[in-house]
Amino acid sequence: MAEKSKYVFVTGGVVSSLGKGIAASSLGLLLQKRGLKVCNVKFDPYLNVDPGTMNPFQHGEVFVLDDGSETDLDLGHYERFTDVPMGKENNVTTGQIYNTVISRERRGDYLGATVQVIPHITNEIKTRIKKLERIMDEPDVIIVEIGGTVGDIESQPFLEAIRQMGQEEGPRNTMFVHVTLVPYLGTAGEFKTKPTQHSVRELRAIGIQPNMLLCRSAKPLSEDLRKKISLFCSVPTRSVVNAQDVSTIYDVPIKYHAQGVDDIICEHFGWQVPQPELADWEQMVERIKNPRQHIKIGICGKYVNLRDAYKSIIESFVHAGVANDAEVKLIWVSSEDIKQSGAEKLLYDIDGLLIPGGFGERGVEGKIEAIRYVRERKIPFFGICLGMQCAVIEYARNVCGLAEAHSYEFYRDLKHPVIHLMADQEGVTELGGTMRLGAYPCIVAEKSKSYEAYGLRQISERHRHRYELNNAYREMLVKEGLLLSGMSPDNRLVEIVEDPGHPWFVGVQFHPELKSRPTKPHPLFREFVGASVTYNEKKKAATSADVEESIDISRS
Ligand code: GLN
Repeated sequence: MAEKSKYVFVTGGVVSSLGKGIAASSLGLLLQKRGLKVCNVKFDPYLNVDPGTMNPFQHGEVFVLDDGSETDLDLGHYERFTDVPMGKENNVTTGQIYNTVISRERRGDYLGATVQVIPHITNEIKTRIKKLERIMDEPDVIIVEIGGTVGDIESQPFLEAIRQMGQEEGPRNTMFVHVTLVPYLGTAGEFKTKPTQHSVRELRAIGIQPNMLLCRSAKPLSEDLRKKISLFCSVPTRSVVNAQDVSTIYDVPIKYHAQGVDDIICEHFGWQVPQPELADWEQMVERIKNPRQHIKIGICGKYVNLRDAYKSIIESFVHAGVANDAEVKLIWVSSEDIKQSGAEKLLYDIDGLLIPGGFGERGVEGKIEAIRYVRERKIPFFGICLGMQCAVIEYARNVCGLAEAHSYEFYRDLKHPVIHLMADQEGVTELGGTMRLGAYPCIVAEKSKSYEAYGLRQISERHRHRYELNNAYREMLVKEGLLLSGMSPDNRLVEIVEDPGHPWFVGVQFHPELKSRPTKPHPLFREFVGASVTYNEKKKAATSADVEESIDISRS
């Protein structure tokens, strides 16, 4: 039905971390479920060209897309909620905008003009927003999330650009949604609307009148309170939406829908479209809330106190939990603690172990020890990227007897570099965007756990790494029983390894977590959680048999 794309601009006020990304994703999902074609885009106000070079402490996870771009973790939410595959154009940073404008200036394209934030930077921002109409094949609506908080110096050019778009495109083609916080003051026993009023005033000072407010709060906001906000902010009461805290992010669109959020947007744009089909989504949320069983999976990594660094992995477990009707409790174990206290002490209780991706040597020995523990005890294991590389090192050391096996990433002068630099990486000196990045095909061996999971011979998965299994060690690893169950089509790169003598031991060089969706869990996560449920059931059966036996003994 697209004539011309409409624009929904999502801004945030009062504090950061209000979940603008989830809000923008939820709007996307609701409109998509009403039959509209949606596109999400995130503008980040920092000067880095992309988050690829940023430390996880600064930025959380880097979400890699099929085209190899390294993007903000909100793009993970967009893809998980709407399942619309995105590309580099869906995440724009101030760094990219300035890069473009400055190169153009150097080429002399501005013909002697003084190059300024307004109009040159703002024009470039608008061009990038409008360009999506063509790139994303004419979506009905482009949902533009502006990173940061209203009032920040950094985000001002973006706000100015969307203000201009509001003028140029007209009120029937643009809508401004502002996410705010309504805090509850325990001492006063009241909710406070003042921060929201101030935040909206700040927006209006730059010429943006919000059409809708998504008011975050810990407890429900009364009708009276919403009326008060409506009065002060000139937003109809109906459009003062209460975005109350929920136990799972997947409940957000359902709560929005119950308050008529998608109706309001459709009316605003004059769309006459059916009500959304939410049955499968609601069923998924129900299963998250009421799981039949509970299991514990250990995650052993470097940034265990920084959950944002593992966002997609955490979500993949939620999705895989739904498929197995199980709640997956994640036990975060620092790999350095394992080195100090030993694997047994920290992992005795788990039903499965996941080692995620990572960079740098810190904690690697602890990871290798943890892998040995679960391999020998036949506890399900899933290694991702660095986790797979550690599994290969462990296998080389403890099964093949190469005590000095290690990765070339950590030591250059190695006797057995079982993980080595890819040939095309030698001589690469720049760090930004120079790894093996993005989607690559992989051929899966028929008799393997991977094939059981995917049911496909050819798959496509996303990568972000510099090192690979060293082909010089392939033969020996295979001779000692390791199954190389996934290969690049030209057979040059090992993508998946398995221990066929183990109930579920799989390591993958790619990042499956980037492709898991709530109603379409990733096959490997699904099967890994399934194997961990089986392990848990056997463990419980064995313990109750032990108890019965001891009762029998005490009776006799
Ligand atoms: N550091 C390893 C490499 O570059 C693994 C990367 C990762 O886990 N994403 O190959």
